[in-house]
Amino acid sequence: MGRILSCPRCQKDDILRSHPQSAREHLASFIFVAPFRCLSCSHRFLASHLWLDHSTHPIDRREHLRIPVRLYLSFSGGKVRGEGTVLDLSMGGCIIKCGTQVHADDIFYLQLSLGDGELPLEVAAMVRSVSARGIAFKFLRAAQENKRLLAFVQAQTPDQPDKSSGKVGVAA
Ligand SMILES: [Zn+2]
Repeated sequence: MGRILSCPRCQKDDILRSHPQSAREHLASFIFVAPFRCLSCSHRFLASHLWLDHSTHPIDRREHLRIPVRLYLSFSGGKVRGEGTVLDLSMGGCIIKCGTQVHADDIFYLQLSLGDGELPLEVAAMVRSVSARGIAFKFLRAAQENKRLLAFVQAQTPDQPDKSSGKVGVAA
């Protein structure tokens, strides 16, 4: 049995562990301190995750919710250029369908067309795997902090109670 956290604001213990988002939270992860979010009041706070009961406080999967999409994409890296369709998208990466040969660990600049009349979204990404389902890209860290990507992903996922509290809760 590990420790069970309760919310410093409302004292409930429906707490999910979050992924670090701000520089401060990334820094905290070096000393085994992670961000957590209360499901009852959406309060976000930092706490040690050592000896924690991980089945009681699982990682919040919704932060990396995959959204089914159909977006045109082109990419380039080195001598390789290609284009394809983004099938699913999250803040962590995307899966695309395309006929171009790529290899795991290749790094590309992706240009995603988010809509008519909008500039394409440019992100750097690494090929994580190639399978029959498509090419899985992992966005590099800078892309995960991309505001347009975040806005697009959040616009596709209604019912995200932590949309604003994430910023309020970590204010130092
Ligand atoms: Zn709470």
